[in-house]
Amino acid sequence: MTATTPGLVCSHHHLYSALARGMPSPPKTATTFHEILEQIWWRLDMALDLEMVRWSAMLGALEALESGTTAIIDHHASPNAIEGSLSVIADACAEVGVRVACAYEVTDRHGEDGARRGLEENRRFLSEGGRGWVGAHACFTLSDDTLDLVVGLGQDTGAGVHIHVHEGPEDSDAGKRLAGRTDEGWLLAHCVSLEERLDGTILHNPESNMNNSVGYANPGRFENPVALGTDGIGANMLGAFRAAYLKQRESDVTATPETAWSWLEAGWDLFPEARRDAVSWSYEPMDPWHLAFTPGVRPIKIAIDNKLVFADGAPTLVDAGEIRAKAAEQATRLFARL
Ligand SMILES: [Zn+2]
Repeated sequence: MTATTPGLVCSHHHLYSALARGMPSPPKTATTFHEILEQIWWRLDMALDLEMVRWSAMLGALEALESGTTAIIDHHASPNAIEGSLSVIADACAEVGVRVACAYEVTDRHGEDGARRGLEENRRFLSEGGRGWVGAHACFTLSDDTLDLVVGLGQDTGAGVHIHVHEGPEDSDAGKRLAGRTDEGWLLAHCVSLEERLDGTILHNPESNMNNSVGYANPGRFENPVALGTDGIGANMLGAFRAAYLKQRESDVTATPETAWSWLEAGWDLFPEARRDAVSWSYEPMDPWHLAFTPGVRPIKIAIDNKLVFADGAPTLVDAGEIRAKAAEQATRLFARL
């Protein structure tokens, strides 16, 4: 039995995190969201070079295909390898055959020069015809001046801004700082404790929020469109849908899987091309009430833009074994730097 759907969309990913699994433990146990950033993600992103970025993206794109996800909205950081990084990611995804929209994470964590170079990478990529948004980390690592530049570049390019908002308590004034600056084209990742009204699509990442112990965003409370992401924990969107449903159900026993399914479907508003992709699945029917309780559903065949990119459980354009081997080599190099 098979059923066919359009390609699924991961609306918030960090492909650079694909190599992080199994990384050495941080020097001390992180006890807050800020310590998780400092001791894990900000050490990891500093260690990345373009070769690692490339194989991390190849592995992430491969794993997306293996989950029936044909479009990824990525948010990237590699402070010591900024220039050209978005093209490396776009090329890697193209090689595997997966659609991607890129963003470079602008931040003041590395001074004025780091912020300027991040802005410039967004500008370069978008002006050369790259698909994406202007990326920004989060208000709590952005000065007002840098935030102005991000907002301006989002307007100048017409691309909008992809930013983390209220992921943890550190970012609690983000709603106030962003009020009046956002528009419908913005992507607002997390919004766990956001109370202000901002414009844009809210990107809900239930698995990551649970992993970081930051609380439940309860995205059903917003009037904004809501779409689903993984925040870097792979690109299995049926898994993200199930987590979103279960998390909502945990706080409201009357919640139905249809709500979380509508969040998954909202990905097609952000990445309309994915509607043209066709994924044949190992299960039928592909219906929210079935899928909420059916782990392990896999794609059998995938066509992206009418091109066969996945058949009989394997990618057709690349060698999955080679990607895994090269990614493992790069992970070893990365871990040695940590
Ligand atoms: Zn994120």
